[in-house]
Amino acid sequence: MTRKFLNRIDNAFSILVLDEAKRIRTQFLFTYSILFAVSSFMTIVNIATGKTTLMLATLAFALLCAINTALVKCGKKGILVSTVLFQIEFIILLTFFIVSGNPEGFSAIWAAMLPTCGMILFQRKKGSILSLSMFAIMIFFFWTPIGRSFLQYEYTQSFMLRFPMLYMAFFLLALFLETIRKKTADNYHYQSIHDPLTKVYNRRGFLEMVQRLVESKKLSDVGFMIFDIDHFKRINDKYGHFAGDNILIQCANRIQRLTGLELCRWGGEEFAIFDPEGKVDQDYATKLCKEIESSSFILDTERIPLTMSIGAVRICLDKTDLKDAGRLADRCLYDAKETGRNKAVFEDHR
Ligand code: GH3
Ligand code: MG
Ligand code: MG
Repeated sequence: MTRKFLNRIDNAFSILVLDEAKRIRTQFLFTYSILFAVSSFMTIVNIATGKTTLMLATLAFALLCAINTALVKCGKKGILVSTVLFQIEFIILLTFFIVSGNPEGFSAIWAAMLPTCGMILFQRKKGSILSLSMFAIMIFFFWTPIGRSFLQYEYTQSFMLRFPMLYMAFFLLALFLETIRKKTADNYHYQSIHDPLTKVYNRRGFLEMVQRLVESKKLSDVGFMIFDIDHFKRINDKYGHFAGDNILIQCANRIQRLTGLELCRWGGEEFAIFDPEGKVDQDYATKLCKEIESSSFILDTERIPLTMSIGAVRICLDKTDLKDAGRLADRCLYDAKETGRNKAVFEDHR
């Protein structure tokens, strides 16, 4: 029973970690709901104790939370509008309580600080700029003689000094936590689109990258090549799989250096490159085969003879889909293997 419940919580958190949009929405809904509950409770307390000004402020705050909860449900733009509303509310509250000299109002200002952190969680750069502006406003009111002349209430010296510092601590904590989360998420994303052994793109990351490139540069004539190591099983059998791994890393580096193009680990011992300029042809592919054959692959100072077969195509993206380019190049590669290996087969599909 308890385990089932814990598993359910675990799954809910996994979904939140994986789904960025859902995580942001939940974070904001959670924050606004708590603030709504607290400010509603404070409104009742203020009515009971007859603090009319304060009651109006907490009531306005509760209403704003309710509006923001509805805005969050309208998607990304709604969340942005809600955070901006909160920043405006924050400035109004701060100015109102400082100038009117109502020290109890600071509890409401504290509540308004949470959305400042929310802004950082939502948009780090804009959130940081806004938070630093708030900090500057507080420094002006509490730490400068001109600012202090606006104050109607005799705040103690320690309060004046402490308040901006507490705000700064709150802001830095939010920024720190968000930076850790962002770095972890970036790290996961990197691992999901790269091959852990050779560190080049995996097939998924490669196709995503190529798709982006094609769309942003409006490419039409492009080239695509698949490299397959000849008789790689023999290297594994003779030297062991760890040595085989080492050769795979050397192969990735070699192809990258020879072509100067984005490389991907297409499969086990197969690599693929994308040529955005469509300069791939039979001569280019054959030359690559020769260069690979004459370069040295080293295992423990021993030079390993190694050749590759290449399937290469040139396509026009208006006629042929990117995924089909892979299939066509695979077919060329198969022909290269069938007709003796250590050679390139090229087809022009424009
Ligand atoms: P050919 O391509 O010339 O037909 O022969 P091949 O020996 O290369 O044959 P095939 O492509 O069928 O076999 C690929 C081998 O690559 C099988 C598998 O053990 C090995 N391989 C795949 N991934 C890895 C890896 O990550 N590390 C190592 N060491 N070997 C791998
Ligand atoms: Mg092979
Ligand atoms: Mg193979």
